[in-house]
Amino acid sequence: MFEQVEAYAGDPILSLNEDFQKDPRSNKINLSIGIYFDDAGRLPVMNAVREAEVELTREIIGRPYLPMEGGADYRVAAQKLLFGADSEVVTSSRIASVQTLGGSGGLKVGADFLHTYYPDSKVYVSNPTWDNHRALFEGAGFTVDTYPYYDPATGGVDFDAMLTTLSGLAPNSIVLLHACCHNPTGVDLSQEQWAQLIPLFRERKLIPYLDIAYQGFGDGIDADAFALRALAEAGLVFFVSSSYSKSFSLYGERVGALSVVCASRDDADRVLGQLKAAVRRNYSSPPTHGARIVAKVLGTPALRDAWEAELASMRERIKNMREALHAGLTKALPGRDVEYFLTQRGMFSYTGLSPEQVDELREKHGVYLVRSGRMCVAGLNQGNVDAVAKAMAAVLA
Ligand code: PMP
Repeated sequence: MFEQVEAYAGDPILSLNEDFQKDPRSNKINLSIGIYFDDAGRLPVMNAVREAEVELTREIIGRPYLPMEGGADYRVAAQKLLFGADSEVVTSSRIASVQTLGGSGGLKVGADFLHTYYPDSKVYVSNPTWDNHRALFEGAGFTVDTYPYYDPATGGVDFDAMLTTLSGLAPNSIVLLHACCHNPTGVDLSQEQWAQLIPLFRERKLIPYLDIAYQGFGDGIDADAFALRALAEAGLVFFVSSSYSKSFSLYGERVGALSVVCASRDDADRVLGQLKAAVRRNYSSPPTHGARIVAKVLGTPALRDAWEAELASMRERIKNMREALHAGLTKALPGRDVEYFLTQRGMFSYTGLSPEQVDELREKHGVYLVRSGRMCVAGLNQGNVDAVAKAMAAVLA
């Protein structure tokens, strides 16, 4: 039995991380994994999270199952964070939200729901995208294709090609979009470009599915939610999967949500019922701890202020590292355009390095990047950024 079971190739990013751990060089630098590290290279425990957690341990209570849809406070807090507390979609109860196991769980529950009601739809993801997008939607039974997105020639979005492809899609096609801080490129759509997509979604009867895993890491909590708020204001029906892994530094607690913005409260009630059924069929109900922390932070004004300030300092640190890397490369390679490091947003950057250059960077200089050329900017710090700039310059020269 099981002779036919193929060996799992593993996740390329996680395997690279294992190689990094085994590398004996003391000056090695890991810029591969999508985790925010502080300037000392440590995984931060945010102060607001620590305080919330201490308070929660003071009020230790019995731990029954959460309902299938998750904690009520958490779900409302997640909606308000995404859409704004006064948003009409929130106040008129037009959103069906469930607490999920991270953003990945949100994507999967939404994919399962959609496959029940739109089994013949195809899913379109950006080229390139986070690898697990394809896997999650294929796992739910969909055929997944791509729409043009990143333009290596300009280091920006090939928006004309994107529009052309989206304009030719069949009605009810599912279009997965990164709301901010695109993974892996760091290249986001502008507000004007989102405004152009909205009538297209409506006219072509497409189903937008927004993934927001880095709210607060780009330009701010509200600015990063621009796309979802614009779609909500335009009266569209759409999906949002959100993750709090990064913004609360709670990776292992698996805190996320799926929100479906519906045309009416009545629709939202029925959609919520079927999302609960999708949860029940997958894992019955979500875990308690992480979501209680997030709800406590978001629902306690002093903790929320502290969290926002700390998130802002994380965002600023990433921007400072972008500037330092840009300055180092500009100095070492005068005349080479590396402006994209400044305009890209969030934890990731497409460096423009070829797979061979990535290999050389790792083998000769001990700097680990994903072979696509994706760098995790949040792995840079004042202690390693000069070395990274020099190593990259040596490989690019
Ligand atoms: N979407 C994107 C774009 C991501 O980068 C990630 C995390 N790498 C996720 C979703 C999943 O988030 P989580 O870890 O909360 O499942």
